[in-house]
Amino acid sequence: MNDTDLIDPFGRAVEYLRLSVTDRCDLRCQYCIPKGFKDFEEPPNWLRFDETERLLRVMAGLGLRKVRLTGGEPLVRRGIAELSARIRAIPGIQDLSLSTNATLLVAQAEALHAAGVDRLNVSLDTLDRERFAQITGRDCLPQVLEGLESARALGFGPIKINMVMMQQTSERELDDMVDYCIQRGFILRLIELMPMGETGRNAGFVDLQPIKHRLQERFGLVDGVVPGAGPARYLQTTDGSFSIGFITPLSQHFCDTCNRVRLAVDGTMYLCLGNEHRYEFRELLRNHASDEALRVAVLEAIARKPHRHEFREVPEKIIRFMSHTGG
Ligand code: SAM
Repeated sequence: MNDTDLIDPFGRAVEYLRLSVTDRCDLRCQYCIPKGFKDFEEPPNWLRFDETERLLRVMAGLGLRKVRLTGGEPLVRRGIAELSARIRAIPGIQDLSLSTNATLLVAQAEALHAAGVDRLNVSLDTLDRERFAQITGRDCLPQVLEGLESARALGFGPIKINMVMMQQTSERELDDMVDYCIQRGFILRLIELMPMGETGRNAGFVDLQPIKHRLQERFGLVDGVVPGAGPARYLQTTDGSFSIGFITPLSQHFCDTCNRVRLAVDGTMYLCLGNEHRYEFRELLRNHASDEALRVAVLEAIARKPHRHEFREVPEKIIRFMSHTGG
C-alpha cells in the first residue's frame, strides 16, 4: 500500500520531484544546450524560493518524499544552499539530493552539506582533460575533480558519477573512470543518450547492453543492488566495494516503475521527459491560490502523467533539450 495521494492513472506512486532551479549552465555539453543558445528563461519568470517552497509543502502533504535539485546547473543560481535548507525542513521530505557538474562545488560544498543535502550526483563524462574541454566547451576538469575531492572530504555519501556514453567514448576512457571510482569509493552510473532536442539526437546513441557485458568480464562484476536506486540496474564487485549502474531509457526502458515528475524554473511541471504533458503552476502561485486550490492542481497534474516515453518510436518528438526540463 502507498502512503501517498500522488498516484497516477497507471497506479504509480509519484513521490519524487526533480526541481530545476535554473535553465542556465556554465558548460555547453555537446548533447545538451545548443551552441550559441540564448533563449533562457527571464528572471521575473523564475519561481521565487517562497513560491517553490510553498508548492513543495503542498506536494509533501500529498506524499512527495524525495527532491533532487537540478537544472541547468543548480549551483549557478544564487542562494541554493538557503533553498536546500528550506526544502530539507519541509515535513515529509525525507531525502534531498543535488545533480551538479561540480565546476562550482569547491566553494559551495560545505554550505550545501550544512544545509542538509544528503546525496550528490556529479556529471562527468571523461577524465581526459582535452576530451572534457571538447565535450563541455570549457577546459575546467581540474576544478571539477577538486570539487569532488572537497565533497568526499565532507562525507557526502554516496557520491555518484553520471557518465553519458557517446559514440566517441573509448574503452580506455571508460576503464579509467571505473578505476577512478573504485579508488575514490564513488558509485558510477552510465547513461544512454536520449533524443532530447537536436543536440541529444545528433550526439549519437550508444546501446549500453554490450558495454555492460564487457565491463562485467573485465572487472569480474556480479549483479548488485543499491538501496533507494531509481531506474539504474547495478553490477558490483564481489566484495560489494564498488557498484556501477546502467541507466538505459532506450535499450531497456523503466517507465513502468517511473515515480517522478519535473518542475522547471518557470513553474511548469513536466510529467514525462519524453512527452509534452505538462501543468503550469506559476500563475496559480502568483495569484495567491489557496492551499486547497494548489492541492487540486497538483492532483490534476499527476493525473496527466503519460504511461511512457516514445524515444525509440518517435525520436524527433521532443524539441526541448535536457537542461530546459531539468535532467
Ligand atoms: N548541471 C547538472 C549536472 O551536470 O548534473 C544538472 C543538469 S544536467 C542537464 C543533468 C544530466 O543530464 C547530466 O548528467 C547530463 O549529462 C545529462 N544529459 C543532458 N542531456 C542528455 C541527453 N540528451 N541524454 C542523456 N542525458 C543527458
